[in-house]
Amino acid sequence: MTRSGSSVTEVRAAAYEVPTDLPESDGTLAWDSTVLVVAEVTAGDTTGLGYTYAHQGAVPIIERKLADAIKDHDAFDVASATATMMHETRNLGVTGLVAMAISAVDIALWDLKSRLLDIPLVVALDAVHPATPIYGSGGFTSYDDKQLTEQLVGWAEAGIPRVKMKLGRDPDADPRRLAAVREAIGPDVELYVDANGAFTPREAIKWAHRYAEEFDVRWFEEPVSSDDLAGLRLVRESTPGGIDIAAGEYGWNPWYFESMLSSGAVDCLQADATRCLGITGFLAVAGMCDAHQIDLSAHCAPQISAQASTAVRRLRHLEYFHDHVRIESMLFDGVLEPEPGGLLRPDRSRPGHGLHFKRADAERFRVA
Ligand SMILES: [Mg+2]
Repeated sequence: MTRSGSSVTEVRAAAYEVPTDLPESDGTLAWDSTVLVVAEVTAGDTTGLGYTYAHQGAVPIIERKLADAIKDHDAFDVASATATMMHETRNLGVTGLVAMAISAVDIALWDLKSRLLDIPLVVALDAVHPATPIYGSGGFTSYDDKQLTEQLVGWAEAGIPRVKMKLGRDPDADPRRLAAVREAIGPDVELYVDANGAFTPREAIKWAHRYAEEFDVRWFEEPVSSDDLAGLRLVRESTPGGIDIAAGEYGWNPWYFESMLSSGAVDCLQADATRCLGITGFLAVAGMCDAHQIDLSAHCAPQISAQASTAVRRLRHLEYFHDHVRIESMLFDGVLEPEPGGLLRPDRSRPGHGLHFKRADAERFRVA
């Protein structure tokens, strides 16, 4: 039975394409803008807010497919609403753009439920941690050495004890870039790298040894394609201890992560709550990490991931990604700022996740 005032009456979405501050590239892709898709779900006079980083094509999926699926649904039954959205999109494929659209709506539903209950989202989620550790992430291959080192040193100076840079686009230039970064951040800040699938397994093994031995790199993300589970496992088994192999940011659903975990592909799994069926899907992945005794690192969308991650028992950290940090600071009020030591601590004095969308400021970026 739906409680009075808690049935879903309206689902809306809009997309905003925000130019990057500088051209950006990684080992396998280049871009100059990022699309934020915002979903809002209303019950009575209360509205919940969710978002994903996707494409404007997610807007009609939300407004013309998912809205029909959850209209009149009880907003307190988030898992049931998300299961219904998955069921109704079966023939579209519960992956890619559909999974991102469902994620945005699921996040809005969690926010709506906690606002209806007038409790913080982290209380609704049964948090096990008071705050989420972060690492600074950017260091694009399109940056010159000055831009690269200034960005990573900036995070270190803000008290964030771990930083990540992109590589693999011009592998022979990477030792020079790594040397510049290690020199600039000093010996005590942990250095991570992300190749975005740029290497073959044999190339990745060769580079992993150099990164670890010459630059004390501790984390090698997507050394080969995330879809090459045998390749990831080979790299993991052939690299020195002390450098973790990580992947999982393109995981859409629980069965994707189960194959990644059961094949022994990673030392630390990554998952993105704005891609993997929202907070509901993200917490399902957290349960799998418990079962496999593997840590989970949250990928990007830091303002929502910082909230969801507090409920992950085997939480490693969260990727505090330059693009998303910038967009979320521009377009949301109520963003969490890093504490010294590199922590994002949800505010328990506000209902929901505490974010408010600055619609008027965003309007100039609107594309759908
Ligand atoms: Mg990555």
